[in-house]
Parts: sequence; structure tokens; C-alpha cells
Amino acid sequence: MANVALGVDIGGTRIKWVRWSPGSGVLDQGEQATPRSGSPAVVAAVAELIARASVQLAGVALPGHLSNDLTAVRLLPNLPGDRPGLPLADELAAQTGARIQLVNDARAFALAELRLGAAKQFDDALFVTMGTGIGGALALNGRILRARGDAVGELGHVICHPGGLPCGCGAHGCLETVAGGQALVARVRAEGGRAETPHEVVQAAARGSGLERAVLEDAGQALGLVLGNVIAYSGVTSVVIGGGVAPAFVFMRPAVEAELAARARLVGPVDLQYARLGPGAGALGAALLVAAQSHRDGDNRSDHELDLGRTADP
Ligand SMILES: [Zn+2]
Repeated sequence: MANVALGVDIGGTRIKWVRWSPGSGVLDQGEQATPRSGSPAVVAAVAELIARASVQLAGVALPGHLSNDLTAVRLLPNLPGDRPGLPLADELAAQTGARIQLVNDARAFALAELRLGAAKQFDDALFVTMGTGIGGALALNGRILRARGDAVGELGHVICHPGGLPCGCGAHGCLETVAGGQALVARVRAEGGRAETPHEVVQAAARGSGLERAVLEDAGQALGLVLGNVIAYSGVTSVVIGGGVAPAFVFMRPAVEAELAARARLVGPVDLQYARLGPGAGALGAALLVAAQSHRDGDNRSDHELDLGRTADP
């Protein structure tokens, strides 16, 4: 079982996991509710998953920023009982004896889609995760870019409406305040609609409701503006859209395409496609990452991933 890796994706409501091996791919997978009683319960739940999987390698994806050496949690805005500075990798390594690698969930999703999913044919791609907020990641030359705190690719906090609505990050007018799942619901309600979830916004739009369609079109325009800027800056020509609110993209797409078409001379034709690996992509990416890190350390290869940070060893 030395080569088998467990990938765990800790979300605000669900913890998803996948057991993966280089030879056989996905061995099994599952999910459970995220404990609501604080981070010790979350750590215990993940430690139990690792013990039950009897693996030596575990990658753990998180919805937030990490410490510069990628072993501790710096900011987890959407998890109950958030404890900034929680040395998650070291705690899990001590409790389980496994080697632990932390990764931001958007980067984990992107790694899985790049290696095994929608971007398998590409070396360069931009990844967008549409959920309560909006995350992102960037692959260049076949590598997911990662840097201090695993924070490369925060598409949701690119400003599209200067002076606009306040964002959780402290700025105003970030893309997330216009096109994030929570923002879509808030906007619909502010204009008299009744949606309580992003899913209901999409359902109403699918039934032809003009209010929800207009909100999604506005969101699409903002998303298209930001994508056009990032594409102009990075030179990528493929965009992969994923996340639980990705179905909303159907109604944003015409506005996104119009924004990109207006800049076609610079950004060229852009390939927009949906993620292929489903909701387990983040967990799978975390497993791929820790397996790649272990492999790299094993034979001194340095060409697997850029700047993986250190793993926590027991
Ligand atoms: Zn922001």
C-alpha cells in the first residue's frame, strides 16, 4: 500500500475523500458531513479517514490560504470554528503517522483537471471554481502555479467594479461580490426575487425568469471582463469551469463570450469548457499532489510540480 494516497477535500459542509494509486487510479471514494463543532473535530474526522484508509500518504485540500511553508492554515473563511495558524499538517502527521501535504482546494481541483480531466490535452489553462465564492488557478507549461501560502489564482478577488460592494477580503467590487454563488442569491433577493440558494437562481433562470437571467447575465459580463484581463496577462487560451455553482455558467456564457470576442485580437479564440471529474476533483488533486511529492523526494526529481512546500512527516 506504499504507493496508495488518500486525498481529502475539506469543504464548509462536506468532507470528500478518494483513495488513489498510480497504477490503478481511483480505488474508492466517499464523503461525509463536515463537523460543525470546530477545528479539533474536523482534524479528528480527517485523521480517522487517514487511519481507516491505512495509507502512508495523505493530501488535504482546504478552502483557504496556507502558511508560507504550506503546513499550517492561515485563513479558512468558510469553515466552522476556524482557528488561524492551526498546524494542521503537523497535527495530522502526529496523529496518523502518514506524510501529509496541504493544498488550497482550487489548486487541487485544477491539478486533477489538468492531469486527468478537461485540460488533459493542454499545458496552459485557467481554472475557475464557482461556489459560494469564486476560486481560481493557473497552469503554465503543464504546472499549476503555486507560491507563498498557495495563493496564486485568486480570480474571485480581481476587482471588476471599482468602488462596488464590500468583499470578505476587505476590498470593494471583487468578482466574487458580483458572480459568486452567495452574491447571485443576494442580488436576486435585493431585486425582489425569492431564491435562497444559487441552485434556485439557476432553476429560475432555466424556467425563463427574466430577473434571474438578468442577474446571471450581469455576472457573466463581470466574469468575462476578468477572464479577458487574466488571459491577456497570462497568455492562456483554455478555461475550465468547475465547482458546485458551475451550472450557472450556462446563463453567463453568452455575456462571457461577448466580452472575450470584443478582445479577440489580443486574447484570440478562447476555449471555454466544463470540468470533467465531478465533485471529487479536489480530493483527487490532493491525492495526486502528495503522491507526486513523495515520488519526487524518492528519486530526486524536480520536474513534477513547482514549489510544493514541505510535507509534514511523522
Ligand atoms: Zn475580495
